[in-house]
Order: sequence, then structure tokens, then C-alpha cells
Amino acid sequence: MSFAEADCMGAKKHSKQIDEYEAKRDFSRTPEPTGLRNSSSTDRSRKKYVVQRHAARSLHYDFRLEADGVLKSWAVPKGPPAKSGEKRLAIMVEDHPLSYASFEGTIPEGNYGAGDVKIWDEGWYETDSGDSDKSILANLKKGKLDVTLHGRRLKGRYLLTRFKSEGGDQWLLIKTKNKTSRSKAGAQSK
Ligand code: MN
Repeated sequence: MSFAEADCMGAKKHSKQIDEYEAKRDFSRTPEPTGLRNSSSTDRSRKKYVVQRHAARSLHYDFRLEADGVLKSWAVPKGPPAKSGEKRLAIMVEDHPLSYASFEGTIPEGNYGAGDVKIWDEGWYETDSGDSDKSILANLKKGKLDVTLHGRRLKGRYLLTRFKSEGGDQWLLIKTKNKTSRSKAGAQSK
């Protein structure tokens, strides 16, 4: 079975990835939430978006999008791009429980990801192709997800696109142009 075929078994992969989250952590030694505190999100219309600044051995920003009852997660070493056309490397990491979206604290030395975690941005997001888990997962599987962020800091359109290597975890997070910006161009002075 190829990676691509294995990738089609979405449900299996999902639970496996929360297992991965738990396997990396000793919850008697880190203040991070366990997977068990995960809550179901199926009846919520707005999907959570959060970025956590993580001062681990190397500083990075964890970019997380709610989908299918978990937080799909990418580590962005340089942080999300601010200007349209800018690209940042984003490494997909294991799914995190939804409860992680409100986590701030210090992961003690000796634990996985030791260092300070602070919420850098939060809000909700939507996609062009609808906000159903099904369509979001299908787009992630294809390696291309357009999102519109409604955060405190980040607002507007972004694209997540996966490098073409099979089974790869490397993505680009790209700030793209806002759909409506063209019609308003010149209407506002800076
Ligand atoms: Mn991290």
C-alpha cells in the first residue's frame, strides 16, 4: 500500500494522530491538555483558528485549524506571513485535541516541546469550498486548502499547499490577495 492509499483511510489516521499526540507526552509532567478532554465540535458552525507562539528549543509558531473534531496543526518556524505574496514553510505535525486551542503555559524541561506557549492569535476561519469537515479533510488530503482567517491579528485569505513529495509533511503557508480588495482599491487612503 502506498502512502497515498493509506492517506485515504482518513478516520484511522485521525485517531492514530491523537494517539501520536498522547504518546509524545507524559501528562503527569506537562500542563498540556490530554486528548481525553477533547470535546465534540460537530454542532458548532464556526471553526476555530489559533496560532500559538512556542518558545521551544527553537522558536516557532503553531498554526492550528479545527477540522473533524481535532486541531490540524503546522509548525511555522518564521511565523505566518503578513503581506500578500509572502510564503512561509509550515511543517504539519500531529493533530492536537480541540482543548489545546486555549492552552497557554510552560512545558517543563525534559518534556516534549519544553518551553513557553502563548496564544499569539485566535479566532475562526472559513474556506471557499464550505466549512464541512468532509470538504476540509478532502482538501487537506489533496494538499491544498484556501482559508479566510478571522483572527485578532490575522485577517483575510491564506493558502496552505503541500510540497509534492509523497507522504511529506512540508507545506507552504501563503498570504494571498483578498477577494474583495480589487473593488475597494483606491477607495481608502492610508
Ligand atoms: Mn510547537
